[in-house]
Amino acid sequence: MGSERTLAIIKPDAFGSGRAGKIVAHLESEGFRLVAARTVRLNQEGAEAFYAVHRGKPFFASLVDFMTSGTVLTLALERKDAVARLREVIGATDPAEAAPGTIRALYAESKERNAIHASDSLDNARAEIAFFFAGVELA
Ligand code: GDP
Repeated sequence: MGSERTLAIIKPDAFGSGRAGKIVAHLESEGFRLVAARTVRLNQEGAEAFYAVHRGKPFFASLVDFMTSGTVLTLALERKDAVARLREVIGATDPAEAAPGTIRALYAESKERNAIHASDSLDNARAEIAFFFAGVELA
């Protein structure tokens, strides 16, 4: 597989506690190149649109509250097999189940406040990069 792009979001728990720099350094050490980066304060409409696939789930309202509770850092990242590799590097959704050394094992607080988002497919990566970087010429 060749070089791919994917989207990460450093979530409000990690950004607000000053862990964004460590997480970005971790991503770079895993071979991800930063194509674009942008701090964003999501509003309710934006968070609901981004997580539309989870609408109706019991944690949806809480997830939207959390994602709108503070600034996030959105990152377009590039490397070989970026989508699959980023999912490995972040670890399982619940930090209690995340492999040692993964970003969620190192920095997440709970299954909801889990430090980082990563696109789960190449199609979603394209859509999610467009969601945050529409109209931006990516380097
Ligand atoms: P991901 O792809 O690993 O981020 O996980 P999902 O796509 O399944 O869920 C999206 C986000 O919703 C997760 O990263 C968590 O922040 C949150 N989430 C997922 N499952 C739960 C849950 O069972 N309870 C709560 N409170 N939040 C959850």
